Amino acid sequence: MTTSQQNFALCEQAQVFLSRDVHQLVIDGQNVPAESGQTLITVNPSTGETVARLAAGDQADVDRAVLAARRAFNGPWSTWTPYERQALLTRIAQFLDERFEELIQIEAMDMGAPVSRLRSTKPALMKMVSFFASQAANIAGETLMNGIPGNVTTMTLKAPVGVIGGIIPWNGPLNSQFWIIGAVLASGCTAVLKPSEDASLSVLRVAEILHEAGMPAGVINVVTGLGKEAGHALAAHPDVDRIAFTGSTQTGRSIIQASTVNIKKLQLELGGKSADIVCSDADLDKAVPGAAMGVFANSGQICFAGTRVLVQRPIVDEFTDRLLAFMDTLRVGHSLDAAVTLGPVISQPQLDKVLSYIDIGREEGAELLRGGQRIGGELENGYFVQPSVFGGVTNKMRIAREEIFGPVLSILPFDDVDEAIAIANDSEYGLGGAVWSQNLSTALRVVHGVHTGTMWVNCYGYIDPLVGFGGTKLSGYGSKGSAAHMDTYLYTKSVYMQL
Ligand code: NAD
Repeated sequence: MTTSQQNFALCEQAQVFLSRDVHQLVIDGQNVPAESGQTLITVNPSTGETVARLAAGDQADVDRAVLAARRAFNGPWSTWTPYERQALLTRIAQFLDERFEELIQIEAMDMGAPVSRLRSTKPALMKMVSFFASQAANIAGETLMNGIPGNVTTMTLKAPVGVIGGIIPWNGPLNSQFWIIGAVLASGCTAVLKPSEDASLSVLRVAEILHEAGMPAGVINVVTGLGKEAGHALAAHPDVDRIAFTGSTQTGRSIIQASTVNIKKLQLELGGKSADIVCSDADLDKAVPGAAMGVFANSGQICFAGTRVLVQRPIVDEFTDRLLAFMDTLRVGHSLDAAVTLGPVISQPQLDKVLSYIDIGREEGAELLRGGQRIGGELENGYFVQPSVFGGVTNKMRIAREEIFGPVLSILPFDDVDEAIAIANDSEYGLGGAVWSQNLSTALRVVHGVHTGTMWVNCYGYIDPLVGFGGTKLSGYGSKGSAAHMDTYLYTKSVYMQL
């Protein structure tokens, strides 16, 4: 029996949701077809089989959704108190808690992340919603001194910016949509979400759950469809006040151009090529699995993946041996198989892209130490690529400079910490990064020296909304999490009162 034929059990709710003929748009609280009647299919990356048919929204549907979002923004939703918005977020957290298994099964079928990984993300999701619930009741302006003669009192007020266009990538929409939904509901904004054409289902299901939890119609709308149609229409829409975009740097550039029509505010969370620096005094029992999973988690489809692993020369051989041994513990397979740690990549084009970078690495003279092939046998119909390691990589090679977004780890040797910092900074991107050292002075030197949005010390990939993360350079701007995140869903109004 092939893996694609194995009957991995789906819960009843996930089965019911996935069995719909067409997954419609969510506009003004209703499931509605695209005006054009067009649909597109989405594929289960573990099997290559069609998993669902989606409404293919375009400009006309974005217009309808933005109108609904604008009406909701100006309607009763604008009178909800912070406590009411906070209570809504708390109810949503309860619903997510109860429906989590259904949601992760939908996500696993749609974007291929293994259920084992998705289950482990539940605390992060619950923390995120709880963070935004806390923010709903923490919006505050200031009273300010002034130098105006007479009895003038001055202060600032914070007000919601309006309609948000949320454009979401495919690499983890179940959680990542809440960076937008949470801030929208906490601030009193409204939104139109455009999930990736490759992974829209968890966003559509969540929209239904938000309404069941008591969110008014029109507050969150979802238009599925192609990026160049529905996505572009949203980015260019004159009645959208702000775009929250997560995706590639290339698409980020088009969003900036499209947004000039009404000078939209932008939050751009873009690509990365993060450096993970392993010093010779690192605790390799922790650094090896940490650096490996810093790349291979989610099959390399994480924006801050530490794909450039910089290893101090005296320990390169030991690090490499231990890395390859650790990789023997990874199990690649169907996303619904509970024993699997790594799933497929999202699509055939993404698989082709990853394999083409492996060819490029070989041609550039890097040494392929492990992997490099599409996985066949019972996984042959899915988009599976072997977790791969290149040794002897230099920072001039394309595999060290360009984002691959697949399970490909490059080892770059370095001599001293200054050289490691220089290599880390020799990148167009500035998203994540880490240093492994038992010497805190060394670690802090690296933390201060690397030009990047987030640095981890002796760990990789922790994200907490209370702390936040964001990028610099070509990795974009705007924080996810922290008070700074909420601030970008609000504008400041200065008030001068002659009393
Ligand atoms: P992508 O840029 O191809 O697509 C992202 C979204 O933009 C999708 O919904 C897509 O339909 C839409 N889109 C495409 N073209 C558009 C256009 N012209 N106008 C408007 N919208 C358009 O990215 P992807 O392949 O889905 O995701 C992978 C990328 O996302 C990687 O580069 C990764 O690093 C990045 N990413 C960044 C972060 C972060 O927080 N910095 C997080 C996750 C992913």
